[in-house]
Amino acid sequence: MNPSFTTPYTLDPLQEKGRFGPFGGALVPPALAPVLQELAEAYDHLAQEGALAEELSHLLGHYAGRPTPLTEVPRYAEALGAGRVFLKREDLLHTGAHKLNNALGQALLARHMGKTHVVAETGAGQHGVATATAAARLGLRCTVFMGAVDAARQRLNVFRMKLLGAEVIEVQGGLQTLKDAVDEALNYYVEHARDTFYLLGSAVGPHPYPSLVREFQKVISLESRAQMLQQTGALPDVLVACVGGGSNAIGAFHAYLNDEAVCLVGVEGGGRGLEPGQHAARFATGRPGVLHGMATVVLLDENDQVQPTHSVSAGMDYPGVGPQHAYLHATGRAQYRFATDAEALREFHRLVRLEGILPALESAHALAGAARLAPELGAKATILVNLSGRGDKDVAQVAEMQAG
Ligand SMILES: *Cc1c(COP(=O)(O)O)cnc(C)c1O
Repeated sequence: MNPSFTTPYTLDPLQEKGRFGPFGGALVPPALAPVLQELAEAYDHLAQEGALAEELSHLLGHYAGRPTPLTEVPRYAEALGAGRVFLKREDLLHTGAHKLNNALGQALLARHMGKTHVVAETGAGQHGVATATAAARLGLRCTVFMGAVDAARQRLNVFRMKLLGAEVIEVQGGLQTLKDAVDEALNYYVEHARDTFYLLGSAVGPHPYPSLVREFQKVISLESRAQMLQQTGALPDVLVACVGGGSNAIGAFHAYLNDEAVCLVGVEGGGRGLEPGQHAARFATGRPGVLHGMATVVLLDENDQVQPTHSVSAGMDYPGVGPQHAYLHATGRAQYRFATDAEALREFHRLVRLEGILPALESAHALAGAARLAPELGAKATILVNLSGRGDKDVAQVAEMQAG
């Protein structure tokens, strides 16, 4: 039991216009601006009123399985040459990752706004499954847009979404992957905004989404901070999280932002190395740009075109990054590093072998970041790693890579 979790937690109001220094904002077509404005106002109203946070706390506690445990992993720590290592166990959340925190929050918001239909985009299908789950629980119609190539690669997740009652639309345009799914979902949303709600999967996109998603994911750090104090009497020296779009990381960082002594480290997908097209390490080689309605750091080529990305892990494979991370990077409050595919795979194997915990390949990037830091930090340091999800979804892929 973790009696440290205090319910209900509060949802903070949004900052004006969602600016994080020079990053963020809502750089969208005119048709979308009033729809986003309505969303921001509805959220602010409900956040002040308190009912949304109370219902969300109840769902998180009685349906999703919060609080998730904080687990010390001494055998793993010893292998890394680290002092103490703790894992925040988002892998134990219902559906196997942190994504459900956000899906439940936004689905509740949708229902309060009188919307009857949620739409979402998905790449590998993890956000689609979380959205379909929240929609089933809350009695909302659900449509998930997925690139046709992604859908073919992720048959099992497509079937899971259908079992949950969602309609899955396979997008035939473009490269038939995540970016095309986002474009289609946004088009649909603009045309059907009266009864639909766009349930966005990470701390990215135009205002208010990066802030909304952070508010729904901050429960991770509210819990872990209290759990660290309770279990060790102190805060961690270093907190590490993987950064795809940035939702688990911003949720894991939030409650520590004013704890200057806690070093915050985000780990990006280093893929096969830093050649163009081979990675998703935005802070290593990206520069300021605009993507999906936000000003942020983007992987661009010399003609300012968005570069293709690669990561062994679908959740890390995105050319932009949440604008609050761009800001935390610019101000130096958080550091960003990258881990290669090979480093992530090594930690995937090492954690399950030494501790019986199978991490998602995304989360294995955070572990790889911790493995790099451990020798620098020495034996007195305490490292907290946000284990964003479980690796069951990745077992077939890892088996295939070993066979090939
Ligand atoms: C989707 C996903 C990620 C990456 O998304 P963020 O928004 O960066 O958190 C990380 N870990 C897991 C397990 C995921 O499913």
